Amino acid sequence: MYDLVVVGAGPYGLSVAAHAAAAGLSLRLLGRPMASWRDHMPRGMFLKSEPGASNLSDPSGARTLTAYCAERNIPVRHGSPLSLETFAEYGLWFGERAAPAAEEQTVVSVAPHTPGFRIVTAEGETLRARAVALATGVTPLAYRPAALAGLPPELASHSSEHRDLSRFKGCDVTVVGAGQAALETAALLAEAGAEARVLARAGRLVWNAPPQPLRRGPLTALRDPHCALGTGWPSWVWSELPWAVRRLPAAARVHIARHALGPAGAWWLRERFESGVPVLLGSRLVGADRTGGSGCAPGTGSAVRPRPERVRLRLVDAAGARRTVETDHVVAATGFAPELNRLELLGGSLRDTLRRVGTSDAPRLTGRFESSYPGLFFAGLLTAPTFGPAMRFVYGAGFTAPRLVDGVRRHVAAQRRAGVHHVFEEAHGPVHGPPHGPAVGRPT
Ligand SMILES: Cc1cc2nc3c(=O)[nH]c(=O)nc-3n(C[C@H](O)[C@H](O)[C@H](O)COP(=O)(O)OP(=O)(O)OC[C@H]3O[C@@H](n4cnc5c(N)ncnc54)[C@H](O)[C@@H]3O)c2cc1C
Repeated sequence: MYDLVVVGAGPYGLSVAAHAAAAGLSLRLLGRPMASWRDHMPRGMFLKSEPGASNLSDPSGARTLTAYCAERNIPVRHGSPLSLETFAEYGLWFGERAAPAAEEQTVVSVAPHTPGFRIVTAEGETLRARAVALATGVTPLAYRPAALAGLPPELASHSSEHRDLSRFKGCDVTVVGAGQAALETAALLAEAGAEARVLARAGRLVWNAPPQPLRRGPLTALRDPHCALGTGWPSWVWSELPWAVRRLPAAARVHIARHALGPAGAWWLRERFESGVPVLLGSRLVGADRTGGSGCAPGTGSAVRPRPERVRLRLVDAAGARRTVETDHVVAATGFAPELNRLELLGGSLRDTLRRVGTSDAPRLTGRFESSYPGLFFAGLLTAPTFGPAMRFVYGAGFTAPRLVDGVRRHVAAQRRAGVHHVFEEAHGPVHGPPHGPAVGRPT
């Protein structure tokens, strides 16, 4: 029986594991390290967040992005975008030093099993733990417009399914969305030789300005304070006071999580985008049909295969006028929704018992990230309706990891005090350990 199983080894899972290991908890960290960044984001992408806001968290504070870049002689500075590859490598470097080794296993089920949980992996292992931290990140929460539901994967996909956009060279591709993922996906498609266009409900695209210099006069700094999520007082509150956000009424928090820091393109992308991507703004996607015609299917490299089918997108503009657009493939860059019903690894009955934030489908959490089911903790996007928009970004890991681990420590200590563990072992016999032993400490 472990104290803690951390599910997911992205920025949040790695940070939680680093703090848990330092706290002396026996734990396992399950998941392919930095998988969202290594497998689900397009080659050639850059981070939108500034390097100073892209640190993972360990108790020593030593495993920073700057420390990694200094060790590898990689230039890194405020105002200069960081490549996806550098950030993914930084995550792996952090994981090798600060956290117990992540094990590349996919968790398929987390279910209550007195006095804690039973965790089952696709690879066939069953573990027991007093506490579970779900840091499963964004990919299970991908949001796709209902209008695209009937289309096969060759004709429609989500932006998180693409690592190599050069597959679309020679194809006509429509990207739905107005946020950074949509704009950067479209720019990368155009640069890879596709005919890309962006389709968005918004009447205009929003572009962020280049970041303010870190050193500014005191009056400017007071009027427009600098913080990890940009500048301005609202952003400062979201990034520096997540605990205060949790004190707001639930409806306000749900609204903030949905709307604060809305869709916008990074300043460094604008020129690349505007020189190569036409836009269709003020258009709502209401339906999509398969249609005949000579389309093209994504191939590998420059090999574009002819395809007998295309997609006809049905659109309505703000005045109610209807039109259609035909395309070879549509990419929904429509983001991720913090909804528990998308988390298949949580059994239905456990999921149903969890209390929600207001009318949302996000878990209600204590100040230490514990859900209403004792011992079940959440980290990352699913916590944004509780702690605010910082939880949508890597930066939020620094707030999350120490508090969550403190919550786990208290939960484990309370269980030990109550002697539940011994009662359990007497009733069920010893629990079988993993084939290769625990990552940190021994299960007790
Ligand atoms: C295109 C794009 C660009 C972004 N750019 C930025 C940026 O510039 N700056 C920023 O701060 N944020 C950015 N984000 C947001 C970013 O995703 C989060 O900040 C960060 O990845 C959150 O970390 P996480 O650990 O919660 O989630 P993730 O990075 O998604 O990690 C979760 C991990 O859990 C694993 N996992 C999921 N289910 C299971 C399971 N059942 N079993 C085992 N493992 C599982 C996944 O494989 C993954 O490795 C971006 C997001 C996208 C999609």
